[in-house]
Amino acid sequence: MALALIRTIEEFRRAREAARSAGSLGFVPTMGFLHEGHISLVRMARAENAVVAASIFVNPAQFGPNEDLAAYPRDLDRDMAMLEAAGCDLLFHPSPEEIYPPPEQDVYVVPGEIASRLEGAARPVHFKGVATVVTKLFNIVQPDRSYLGQKDGQQVAVVRRMMRDLNVPGELVVGPTVREPDGLAMSSRNTYLSAEERKVAAVVYRALCAARDLYRSGEARADALRDVIRSTLESEPLVASIDYVSVADPLTLAEAEGDVADGAMASTAIHIGKTRLLDNVILTRSAGSNT
Ligand code: AMP
Repeated sequence: MALALIRTIEEFRRAREAARSAGSLGFVPTMGFLHEGHISLVRMARAENAVVAASIFVNPAQFGPNEDLAAYPRDLDRDMAMLEAAGCDLLFHPSPEEIYPPPEQDVYVVPGEIASRLEGAARPVHFKGVATVVTKLFNIVQPDRSYLGQKDGQQVAVVRRMMRDLNVPGELVVGPTVREPDGLAMSSRNTYLSAEERKVAAVVYRALCAARDLYRSGEARADALRDVIRSTLESEPLVASIDYVSVADPLTLAEAEGDVADGAMASTAIHIGKTRLLDNVILTRSAGSNT
């Protein structure tokens, strides 16, 4: 089946009804400017469902006033070619007015404590925007399974919690972080890096791996794990600032105190030049984790 580009909610609902008899629908929400990280999720969805839908929507509600909404990279033709090659059936690509028609939206989905930490501390409106648009997209697409990347570990935790607390139907499937050969997590925002910055950007993954290696060598104290991440990041002069360094419970994102439990999420967000980079790894005693 060729990829169908659908721009309106009404048309998507018709396509969804028409596809219902085929079997389960797998859904990959994105902001576009796709890379292998997104496509790996489409492939997972393709392998597990009769119908695969993706969305491309750069959601204004999840960007703060001084963030990169206007500059966010876009290339619909290239994205469509990649989606079609990966076997995606339906692409929902609405305008901002289609998702947020006047009068101004007054009812939001507002996650609590889980969204106040890490990314939420640095980006106060972010997860209210994410949870609201994910709810809208789930209500429009009505997926049986939704595919999110571990790359955005807090987003996974917030959506998982929202689905649980609000009894949202459907299954959440989390795909492993896809990385460049030097370890840098693929991201649409990597395009903002200068050539010089790109050369050192893998320090983020190196710092997180240093914590994982230390944990595997027997060190379980959360402070020691956070320290090795921070000192690795600080050893790179092009790291302009560190928003946070965290070792936290992967479900609640509560910061670990004392010794950490297996499965904790080590994460960080930093600035290199004007680019903000975000990454995480799961701390496991044995190799073979999905990050
Ligand atoms: P975005 O377009 O950045 O909103 O991302 C859309 C989806 O792709 C989210 O579930 C992301 O977590 C996921 N994603 C982004 N980058 C990667 C990556 N490098 N590996 C795996 N999944 C990713």
